[in-house]
Amino acid sequence: MLQALHIDEAKGIITAFDERFLFIPVALIHSIEDKLTESFGPITATSFQYSIGKQGGAQYMSIAKKSGFNIKQSGGLEQIADRLGTLGGWGKVSIVNFDLEKKIARIRWTNGVSVRNRKGKTPVCHFGRGILTGAMEQVFGRKCESLEVSCQGKGDRFCEAVIGEPAEITRLAEQSKRTSD
Ligand SMILES: [Zn+2]
Repeated sequence: MLQALHIDEAKGIITAFDERFLFIPVALIHSIEDKLTESFGPITATSFQYSIGKQGGAQYMSIAKKSGFNIKQSGGLEQIADRLGTLGGWGKVSIVNFDLEKKIARIRWTNGVSVRNRKGKTPVCHFGRGILTGAMEQVFGRKCESLEVSCQGKGDRFCEAVIGEPAEITRLAEQSKRTSD
């Protein structure tokens, strides 16, 4: 399995899982989030972060496949969450529930990079939720959407997203809207 982190100091190239990686400060992610919100408003900014995240999730899964992880098994997904998620600095990521047949997953994380305080009224992890959704699209082999049902950015104990088929996610979103009204 390819997993060694290699740093070529002379060339300025970091390699992990046979892919070039980059250390960037989390503050840079915050600048991108802020600039998108300033320039395009919160709704468009959210959708940009989410769709950029989705691309990233697909890339992570292609790295995972190349490295020999079994992406269609809950044990394999746990390993990917550990190696590429938690050890990659995204926060502590774990798979709560995974159903390949029903094409639905529930993934939990703490210390997400987009959480800056705990006082918001809405979830904040659009980029991270996008990454998880793009990753699960590769696993389920079809388009997915997601809902961050719990977020540390609004004072919850952890962040948690439900990821599944668009119709099912729409149904869940409407259901949770009704119960919060
Ligand atoms: Zn969150």
